[in-house]
Amino acid sequence: MIPLDYNAGAPLREDALQAFLVANREVPANPSSQHRLGRQAQGVLEDARDRVAAALGCAPREIFFCATATEACNLALLGAARAKRAMTGETPLLVGSLAEHPAVLGALRMLQQEGFSLQLLPLDGHARVEEAALAEIPAGAFLAMQWANNETGAVQPWELVAELDCAFSHCDAVQGVAKLPLDPAILAASTLAISGHKLGAPKGVAVLRVADSATLEPVLGGGGQQRGIRPGTEAPALAAAFAVALEGALADQAKFAETTAAAVATLEDHLFRAIPEVRFIHPGTGQTRLPNTTSLCFPGLDGRVLLPALDADGLAVSAGSACSSGSTMPSSVLVACGLSEAEARATVRISFGPGQGGAVGEQVARQVVTVVGRAYGIANQ
Ligand code: PLP
Repeated sequence: MIPLDYNAGAPLREDALQAFLVANREVPANPSSQHRLGRQAQGVLEDARDRVAAALGCAPREIFFCATATEACNLALLGAARAKRAMTGETPLLVGSLAEHPAVLGALRMLQQEGFSLQLLPLDGHARVEEAALAEIPAGAFLAMQWANNETGAVQPWELVAELDCAFSHCDAVQGVAKLPLDPAILAASTLAISGHKLGAPKGVAVLRVADSATLEPVLGGGGQQRGIRPGTEAPALAAAFAVALEGALADQAKFAETTAAAVATLEDHLFRAIPEVRFIHPGTGQTRLPNTTSLCFPGLDGRVLLPALDADGLAVSAGSACSSGSTMPSSVLVACGLSEAEARATVRISFGPGQGGAVGEQVARQVVTVVGRAYGIANQ
């Protein structure tokens, strides 16, 4: 099986696994316990917080460990909007985009039900937020915009956010971190969510960076852990693994980008020449696109048939995002890009991982050409 679904989940990094195992075995106590063993666990947790903060260039007090990026995005958005309402009685306009992951859209919809107004920015044909619409956001709005799109790889125009007068900004940085160079425009967001399992940490750990300028109300009622903003017993071993994975993935970023971009270029070049019908949904090159991701539409075919056929041939690809791939609905992001429902269903995403370069791209191209050619043969009978 060739794994081609890196955007859904990265393989566990060996160094992160070791950090987890050592901390889990040697420091099993509750980090809130007052005895020496508890203080040791607290030490592991705070060391991880320091290291994550150093990697992101912020203060350790700005780092909150969560279980998933979905939780981190919910804490950021629900926490900031409700805190604003509680402090001022105001319900600021919430602005998201049609490219957002359900982790963000779900939280925005919950706030909408609580009485906040919600505006979703339109996308261009590649799932990039329309710059003109972004520029028109009214002063004082709360903005939620991802760094990069998980389906098409589109990198969003964060460089424009500094020119806006948003009262709060949330960046879902899950897909950008360690695929793109760390960007000061991203780090300037009020809150920033990063998922551990996209970096090679075990599943079950994520980080929300909350800038000192942002005020969050807790979403969970509980104890005073993490200053009461994210109560619940912390997981020092998972935090340690997250810190190691983040450091390692950031150090590997340039190599990752170079290698996977070669795989994408080789694959696209082969498909372009061999399958006249293929349509590329992703944006151009450079900073407007994730290096490892390609989104391929095969008009007339159906991903629900194509995916199992590719799977049977040893290619693990996906359609839409992993968390909604069980859904029978076409990807809402692709429909927002202007694709018809049939075209959205005919689109598959290939996302390469570390070490997958031109040779893997060529191998994958050969297999895709065979499987897709066979599928067109059947479809056109
Ligand atoms: N945001 C984006 C862009 C994602 O791709 C994902 C996961 O696929 C998430 C948020 C949710 O992350 P998690 O799986 O840690 O909840």
